[in-house]
Parts: sequence; C-alpha cells; structure tokens
Amino acid sequence: PLVLGIESSCDETGVAIVRGQELIGNAVASSLEEHARFGGVIPEIASRAHLEAMVPMIDEACDQAGVALADLDAIAVTSGPGLAGALLVGVAAAKSLAFALDKPLYGINHLVAHVGVDVLEHGTLPMPMVALLVSGGHTNLLLVRDICSDVVSLGQTIDDAAGEAYDKVARLLDLPYPGGPHIDRLAAEGDPRAIRFPRGLTSGRDMQRHRYDFSFSGLKTAVARWVETRRAAGEEIPVADVAASFQEAVVDVLTRKAVLACQEHGATDLLVGGGVAANKRLRTLAEERCTAAGITVRVPRPGLCTDNGAMVAALGAQLVMAGAEPSPLDLATDSSMPIELVHV
Ligand code: ATP
Ligand code: MG
Ligand code: FE
Repeated sequence: PLVLGIESSCDETGVAIVRGQELIGNAVASSLEEHARFGGVIPEIASRAHLEAMVPMIDEACDQAGVALADLDAIAVTSGPGLAGALLVGVAAAKSLAFALDKPLYGINHLVAHVGVDVLEHGTLPMPMVALLVSGGHTNLLLVRDICSDVVSLGQTIDDAAGEAYDKVARLLDLPYPGGPHIDRLAAEGDPRAIRFPRGLTSGRDMQRHRYDFSFSGLKTAVARWVETRRAAGEEIPVADVAASFQEAVVDVLTRKAVLACQEHGATDLLVGGGVAANKRLRTLAEERCTAAGITVRVPRPGLCTDNGAMVAALGAQLVMAGAEPSPLDLATDSSMPIELVHV
C-alpha cells in the first residue's frame, strides 16, 4: 500500500511516503536550532514550527515520491506519546487529509514506530524481537511479539533518558546542545577505563527489583561531582577521558540489559532505535555482545533512528497490510500513550 506518515511529537516535522516496505519520499524539518539556546525543547516554539513546516513537508514528500495525494491508500500519524501541542498539529493535518481524500486514518504510537521503521532498512521484522529505544525523551526495553498488536514494556528509565544524560553531561563539560554527538566524538579520543562511573540498577536488590529498568541520574551526579572536585582544586579536566568513561557506563548497562532481555525471552534479534542509536560506541558494543550471544543486531541508519515521518508511514503500511482497524476521524492525541497501544 501507498501510505503517507506524519510525525510531530517533538521538534521534528516529518512527512514521508512508503510503498509497502520501500521509502519513496522523506521530508524532515527540525526546529532544533531554535531550541538550542534554551538547552532543551520549548513546547510552544515546537508547535509553532510544526504549523509553519507541515504543508511544505507534505508537498515535498509528495514531490520526492512523485505521487499525488489522491493516489494514497492511507494516512498514518503519530498520535502519542509526545508534546501535546506538537502532536495536535500533526493529528489535525492527518485528519484533514483523511477527511478530504476519504482515506483511512491510523493514529499510531511513536515508540512502536521507532521499531517498525526497520522494515525500510532490513525488511520484515523477525518475531519475537527485543527493542532497545534510546532517545532524548525515552529509554525503553520492549518485547515485540507482533509489531501490529503485541508489544509489551519490559523496562524503562526510572529517571533520566539516555539522551538526556548525554545532554546534561555535555552541558557540564561546556559542550553545545544537543551534546550526544559531541560526547560521541570526544569519547573516541579518551580512555573509557580512566574513571569508573556507577552502573545504575545492575546489582543486588536494585537488579532484582529493576531487572530491565535503567537509571542515569546517579551517573550524571557522579560525573558532576568528579568534575567539580577537580575544578575546585584548579585541576584541568581531561574532557575526553570523562566523556569516554561516562559513555562506557551508559552503553555498558544498555547493552548488558538488552542482551539479557533477548536471552530471557527467546528473542534472536535485537533492534536498537532512537537518536542515541547513532552512537558509535553503542553500535559497536551491541554488535560485540550480541554476536557473542548468538543474537542478530538490527540498527536502522542514523537518519531513520531520529524522529521522522518514515517511521510513521512504515508502521502505518504494516497496519494496513495486517488488516488493522482504522482510527475514527475524531482521533485524539494522547501525550502519554501507553506502549501496549500500537495504534488507536
Ligand atoms: P523522542 O524521545 O520523543 O524520540 P528526541 O527528539 O529527544 O525525542 P531523538 O531526536 O531521537 O529524540 O534523539 C535526540 C537525542 O539523541 C539527544 O539527546 C541527543 O543528544 C542524542 N544523540 C544524538 N546523536 C547521538 C550520538 N551520536 N551519541 C549519543 N547520543 C546522541
Ligand atoms: Mg528530536
Ligand atoms: Fe522519537
């Protein structure tokens, strides 16, 4: 089926068109730079930017794909989770298109779409699979038995998201926002064993009670304390070593728990998605540990890991092919949409 997907849950306005598992048009505008000076996404600015970018992105996706709106078989849109005002812009656009064109509408879960996007890169998803979603707003371990109807949460962060930890530590080291890519680059020149930072929720009672959960705020505090102590003593900060050691603590826990989840749930495949999946050390360590455990790693290319319309269109197409029930035209946004709800 020919499906148009709209994404507007955070700071990216993404519109894409897929034909089955083939991506034929993909337009993304980001308001990232407008938020940079605030050090985080400002919801009101994001909503306004979505309003301005939505129609141009729809036009661009159609141009790239060489299709007219009338050719579409369905419209898919992120209806949650995300920023309420931002979601509203995408959902309003999708409803208008669906109504005007008389096409079925699918309100879908943003997090599940981060998993479903991989069909565009590696083809049909093997089931069951475990998915590790790591971004600025999320850190989730999911068990996917059927991408269209059976997704359960195994665990998540109990405080900061992985990307949020990267951004906060980057700020501490006076690096620009968003800090993930800067730490990634600096870490490559540092020694990951220079400083032993804590691995949250990995031992004793914590591990028993939070087997598949994550915690990064203790790590962030440990890095802050380490840096402040040196600064107060007038010592120079070995930035590359701090970056490498911090990063090692993050990716060590992420990959360890992801492999464990695969083993304990009979999954032979691990998908890693979300903006932090662009991280080089995470990709390497996931590959290394999964290979050792006989697990296949699937990581979409970086452009498909960050928020985009392709992920929404891809999941929409899978729902159409599975014969899923379309959403009502009075589809509402749900800023805290539960992971178990693949679509509404
Ligand atoms: P959501 O959680 O709703 O998907 P988001 O916009 O925060 O929202 P993404 O755009 O997928 O999510 O990811 C952005 C995050 O990824 C930022 O925190 C950024 O620092 C981090 N990031 C991007 N590239 C890298 C990298 N190479 N290494 C580590 N972190 C990275
Ligand atoms: Mg983003
Ligand atoms: Fe996302």
